[in-house]
Amino acid sequence: MSDVENLLIGGERVPAAEEETFDTVNPATGEVFRTVAQAGAEDADRAVHAAARAFEGWSAQTPIQRAKVLYRWADLIEEHADELALIETRDMGMAIGDARWCARNAAAVMRYYAGAVDKLFGSTIPVDRDGIVLTFREPIGVVALITPWNFPLNIGNWKTAPAIAAGNTVVLKPASLSPLSVLRYAELGLEAGLPPGVLNVLPGPGDAVGDALVEHPLVGKVGFTGSTEVGIEIARKAAGTVKRVTLELGGKSACIVFADADLDKAGRMAPFSVFENAGQDCCARSRLLVEASAKEELLEHYVAATRAIVVGDPEDDATQMGPLVSATQRKIVEGYVARGVEEGATLVEGGSRPDGDGLGDGFYLRPTILDRCTNDMVVAREEIFGPVVSVIEFETEEEAIRLANDTPYGLSGSVWTRDGARQLRVARALRTGAIGVNSNSSVFPQAPFGGYKASGIGKELGMEGLVHNTELKSVFVSTEP
Ligand code: NAD
Repeated sequence: MSDVENLLIGGERVPAAEEETFDTVNPATGEVFRTVAQAGAEDADRAVHAAARAFEGWSAQTPIQRAKVLYRWADLIEEHADELALIETRDMGMAIGDARWCARNAAAVMRYYAGAVDKLFGSTIPVDRDGIVLTFREPIGVVALITPWNFPLNIGNWKTAPAIAAGNTVVLKPASLSPLSVLRYAELGLEAGLPPGVLNVLPGPGDAVGDALVEHPLVGKVGFTGSTEVGIEIARKAAGTVKRVTLELGGKSACIVFADADLDKAGRMAPFSVFENAGQDCCARSRLLVEASAKEELLEHYVAATRAIVVGDPEDDATQMGPLVSATQRKIVEGYVARGVEEGATLVEGGSRPDGDGLGDGFYLRPTILDRCTNDMVVAREEIFGPVVSVIEFETEEEAIRLANDTPYGLSGSVWTRDGARQLRVARALRTGAIGVNSNSSVFPQAPFGGYKASGIGKELGMEGLVHNTELKSVFVSTEP
């Protein structure tokens, strides 16, 4: 094996044109994990051309031929789930149990799209002429996918699987902090029979390789997941060549707990809706809105469950929360905690590094609860992207809905109540894309996922994920004699 993790272009692992490299760091130790080839603008151009060449053959295959490759690929992902999980854990610090779940989920999403691809068909439409209009769903061409560091394999696959299933070819640019799992995933794709050039992978900086992809005239669509700030920039640039754009952006989601909820269950489970993956989750319910009369009881359970979260070596099976992805990210999160306290919040749990128990130089931070927050505090408005929850009281259902919606974002959320009518009423009133009722879960391979408001444009997963990777053509066939 080469000492450097090379790029994947046209089915070959190749060095970057400029021969530049960068190191990825294991967040649990602070030590270099791997050295990676760093793509630049010239590599972006090479990869786009490789994808454009592969498009003709791949898009001409029948959906069922493409599905066969995807099914084999899903099997290989599953067979290599432990290997992929370990790469993820060492590259970005995800707890190994979560990383294994992510790898199995990647196989499930791949199978979903393998099965879905021959169920995407057009219509026959009557028109005011002798004849009929037929519609066809066709692939777009070369799709550039740009992904964040927090769920590298999962998000890379959510975007890649439907794009490729629909007959497109892909250039995938993972985030520089955690580029390794998708390189291995792409190799498994080749092993499954993916023709060279159908999937190219280019680790490298956003402002060089990402930018070159967004501006490239041969790219038909950009699928982006990341911060709202960068998403806006990408949408602006992609407009120059009228690219299709889907954006999965940031969030500041609310977990709303009513006094009539099962407070014990909500208190035990809801912490995982913000502290999983050390809070580095776009769906993190980082605002806990709780009905005033139930707050004391709810917090008793919530704080106890948070205290019990096992923070530690992410390679240890018992660990529930590993380190943050980088020293910089931890500093940013610590800054938010300090800001919250300055603004009047009460630190009731965490906020500190778990030093002194053998965690060495890892970028750890304890799960943190800030009580007595108001919705106008910085900690309640900005996406912290770390293990911090801001607790806010409400008195009425109307107030809960108003507070939950009082944010520029609208990605996810939870509602805890035993009242069936209220479950639906509140879920419908929230201006957000995916909600769990009496559950932390809101993302499934089969269901559309994507943000309202500043949390994005377009949907991933489900049939919508496939539709967003197609063009829709109308063909009028005259039946005039
Ligand atoms: P980021 O926006 O900094 O980077 C995301 C990707 O964009 C990276 O690959 C980066 O290299 C690239 N990039 C940066 N500048 C670019 C440019 N000018 N042109 C093209 N590409 C560029 O985000 P991040 O820090 O990697 O991830 C955290 C963010 O992602 C959070 O805001 C989080 O909410 C969001 N996120 C959203 C979802 C979702 O599904 N809505 C899922 C996960 C993460």
